[in-house]
Amino acid sequence: MSEDETLWVAVVGAGPAGYYTAEALTKANENARVDILEKLPTPYGLIRGGVAPDHQSIKNVSRRYEKTSLQDNVRFLGNLEIGRDLSIAELMELYDAVVIATGAPHDRGLNIPGADKAGVVGSAAFVGWYNSHPDFADLEPDLKVDSVVVIGNGNVAVDVVRVLAKTAEEMAHSDLAPYAANVIHPAPIKDIYMCGRRGPIDAKFTTKELGELGQLTHCSTVARADQLPGEVTGVADKELGAKVKNLNHLKAFVENNPGGKPRTLHMEFYARPVEILGDDRVSGIRLERTTVDAEGHCIGSGEMFDVACQMVVPCIGYRSEEIDGVAFHQDWGLFPNDEGHISDHLYTVGWAKRGPSGTIGTNRTDAIAVSALILAEVTAHGKPGGRGLDALIEARSLNIVRFKDWKKIEAAEEKAALGVAPRVKFAHISDMMDIVNDKNDS
Ligand SMILES: Cc1cc2nc3c(=O)[nH]c(=O)nc-3n(C[C@H](O)[C@H](O)[C@H](O)COP(=O)(O)OP(=O)(O)OC[C@H]3O[C@@H](n4cnc5c(N)ncnc54)[C@H](O)[C@@H]3O)c2cc1C
Repeated sequence: MSEDETLWVAVVGAGPAGYYTAEALTKANENARVDILEKLPTPYGLIRGGVAPDHQSIKNVSRRYEKTSLQDNVRFLGNLEIGRDLSIAELMELYDAVVIATGAPHDRGLNIPGADKAGVVGSAAFVGWYNSHPDFADLEPDLKVDSVVVIGNGNVAVDVVRVLAKTAEEMAHSDLAPYAANVIHPAPIKDIYMCGRRGPIDAKFTTKELGELGQLTHCSTVARADQLPGEVTGVADKELGAKVKNLNHLKAFVENNPGGKPRTLHMEFYARPVEILGDDRVSGIRLERTTVDAEGHCIGSGEMFDVACQMVVPCIGYRSEEIDGVAFHQDWGLFPNDEGHISDHLYTVGWAKRGPSGTIGTNRTDAIAVSALILAEVTAHGKPGGRGLDALIEARSLNIVRFKDWKKIEAAEEKAALGVAPRVKFAHISDMMDIVNDKNDS
């Protein structure tokens, strides 16, 4: 292959969407060369910094991404932030196509009075904190509280309540950040409320995740019989089996004894947050009872009730971060696109493209489709590609983390593991870079 035939693609973001894009492009076109540019020194996006620390089997999907990284026609360049170290315009000059795969790292706002009080900690920050994400490692949430309200009825809310409810023993096989374990496990938390504005059948959590809430050694999960229907109605056939299983789990939770264990998880449906109460700090949350009509609309009843709590964790969705020079849809919190196409030679995949939806595998289907579009629309133009990027990196003295450097970080994290834990993650970029730059350890 001559240099002129090389199709140079830069993928911004080394999460699932970025990796599946690199995999799909290089599988479909032997002339494609993909550079994956990542702001952190570590790859894998939310697989490392979002997926729950006690769900290690899910995190194992990163092995597939490692294989992609090790291909000759793919490079990982970490510690390189687009918008800080390099602009999108510069990348567009260097590459035939640029793909934004930066995910949706910010919490959607909880737009109710009092949402800015101390003690309201969005799930992006809270999950990032317990997962050693460098952006949130210094969050220091105050967990000297006896009651926490988690808002949301999806798997992120379930993850948060489970991590708050499990004991040190139950987390032994996890990579929960030790500084988080030191705060969560001795916390005086007695009550955790998981509040959803819709009903139990509308809830988005999946059966396996819901079922785990019934198996906690230290926490009694309770649901209210008066909020559960006798049977599942009004759902599509393909959803019926899972919804019936969910309802069975919830019915079993009705039998549990609140206060029967040191912590109690209260499943509260038909409850919409309207105000965070307290002075500077949260002292409670006001919720409105709702009903859900036949079309699935959530309707406020006007009946209010308060729950005392000192911490609120909204798990209500995410927004992407704007990038200079790329159009952004403020209401949707993502880059407006047509099936992944943003503008000439500029594309997007994953959560940056479609918002926070689906499973990890959804990003693969998505990436395959966007890659096919790129290959149909873009041809090689003899662009400088990776060599041009390397020259720019050198000119700016950027301290890039290559995949072999990441493997050093990974090895050090695994070496630091205690007992049956898989690793202790570095939470600060400076510590990661110390490992990368350690000349004795190369
Ligand atoms: C708390 C939580 C738990 C989850 N648990 C599960 C689960 O158990 N099972 C499941 O199927 N799905 C789960 N998901 C969903 C799954 O994580 C997402 O579908 C997936 O990570 C989205 O992939 P992405 O590549 O679009 O974004 P991300 O995974 O967020 O990756 C984006 C990457 O881009 C990088 N980046 C951002 N900005 C820049 C920039 N300017 N320059 C360079 N790099 C940049 C980020 O650092 C990051 O590495 C979970 C999500 C969350 C939030």
